[in-house]
Formats: sequence, structure tokens, C-alpha cells
Amino acid sequence: MMRLLSLGAGVQSSTLLLMSCVGELDKLDGAIFADTGWEPAAVYRHLEYLEAAAAAVGIPVYRVSAGNIRADMMRPDATVRGRVRDGARHTSLPFYTRDQSGAGGILKRQCTKEYKIAPIDREIRRLLGLKYRAPWPKEPVVELWMGISGDEQRRVRQSDARWKVHRYPLVFEKWMRRDDCKRWIGEHGFPIPPRSACLGCPFHSDAEWHEIKQDPEAWSDVTEFDMAIRRKGGVRGDLYLHRSCKPLVQVDLSTPEERGQRTFFETECLGYCGS
Ligand code: SF4
Repeated sequence: MMRLLSLGAGVQSSTLLLMSCVGELDKLDGAIFADTGWEPAAVYRHLEYLEAAAAAVGIPVYRVSAGNIRADMMRPDATVRGRVRDGARHTSLPFYTRDQSGAGGILKRQCTKEYKIAPIDREIRRLLGLKYRAPWPKEPVVELWMGISGDEQRRVRQSDARWKVHRYPLVFEKWMRRDDCKRWIGEHGFPIPPRSACLGCPFHSDAEWHEIKQDPEAWSDVTEFDMAIRRKGGVRGDLYLHRSCKPLVQVDLSTPEERGQRTFFETECLGYCGS
């Protein structure tokens, strides 16, 4: 069975890769990083570090991509829902919506599947040597490690495909919380990983938006994007990055209570984003 890691380059999946590098976990056959093209610069720097550390012990890190999520969404013909015309881009981030009556909502998240899961699956097919359109094996041939820590147990999911089994070493073998991972990384002399997620992910907590705001280039990037998505086609109402359905530039990110909010990452994402 091929042992592969879904690498997000954040704290938890970095811990798994480094534990495999130093022999505290089985040796991986590879780690796959699905690049949305919109991670913070610090994540790409950390990824280079991980690639070098893994290469030194013979673990390949594969970078794959289904495109640049920001650039795709900024295309004039991009829609978030509805009919896709002649190659128009259909990309749905979990944007917040508010219509003229004031009713709010949140769009279904499709970006994880499109920009994370699908390119990882394509890479696994390549590594397995499966030809175009060949069916997936009917028995487990891949053990896919997920970077979920013990404090995030509700994100654990069994595989819904027969060709793979999910493994959660931090939850069921090491019993490590996120802070334990950071401590382990520090004690072993590795750099503490940055938070891994798209810069403009609507799942950011106010604390994360506040942190992004400290970097003028990153803040300008996300606020420009926030303005540009307001009237994207396909849904009733306007689209926003922030849960308050206010333009990001108008949101008060200074309140400690708000900054303490938990993110959807901590409760909903399945180990592909934010780990
Ligand atoms: S980090 Fe957020 S925006 Fe990026 S793929 Fe994951 S859910 Fe979507």
C-alpha cells in the first residue's frame, strides 16, 4: 500500500511529514501539496524548507495545482453558481451573501474539492500508473495521511472511496493537539509553520484577518479581491469575504472577542485546507 500525505504545509501536516522524516512515524512514499496559488508568501517559504528536509531522507514532495484560485475568480466571466457558458469559469468559494431584503447566507464550498482534492487525486492516479479513464482499484492501494490534530476530532472522516484509507496519526496514534505539534516541532529544532490557507479564504476568523491586515501587500490583495467579487454572477445578492457582509475595509477587526472566534477550518474542513 502506498503511503501518501495530503500536505497543507501548516502545523499539523508539517508535523506528520517531519515525524516521518525522523522516523517517529512510518516512512512516507510521498507528500502531495495542492497549490491554490494564493497562499501567504510564508507558506511557500516553509514549503521549500519541508521539500528540502523530506528530500534529504528520500521522501518526494509533489506540488500540484488546478490553477490560481484568485486569478480564476477574478476572470470577468467567472461565476459562482448557475449555468457555465462556453468555458466560463465556475468557482465557488464559501462567500457570504446578502440580498436586497437583508437576508444573508453562505455559498457552498466547492473550492476544496476543485483546488485541493481533485489535483491530489489526479496526482495519486499518476503515481499509481493509472491510465486516462482507467477505473480506480476496487481495493485499498493508498493510505492517505491527513493533518488533523487531536483537538479537531470532529473533522475526522472515513474514506468514501474503496481505493484509499485515511490515516490520522495525530488523533489515533500520537494523541497530539495543535499546541503539542508546535511544541514537538520546536523541540526538534524545526521552524514553526505559518497558517496555511488561501489569503482570501472566507473562513478566516477575525484574528486571521487582523493578522493579514498587518501586511500591507497582503491586505491590499484581499481587499481588492473583496471589492471585485461583490456582483459576481449566478446568485441573488452581493458577495462578501467577511461574515458580517460588510466590505472588508469597513470591518472592525480590533475587538478581542471577535478576534477570538473559532474558524470553520477548526470545525468543518477535512484535512485538505488549513492543516
Ligand atoms: S483555504 Fe478556503 S478558499 Fe482556499 S480552497 Fe480551502 S476553503 Fe477554499
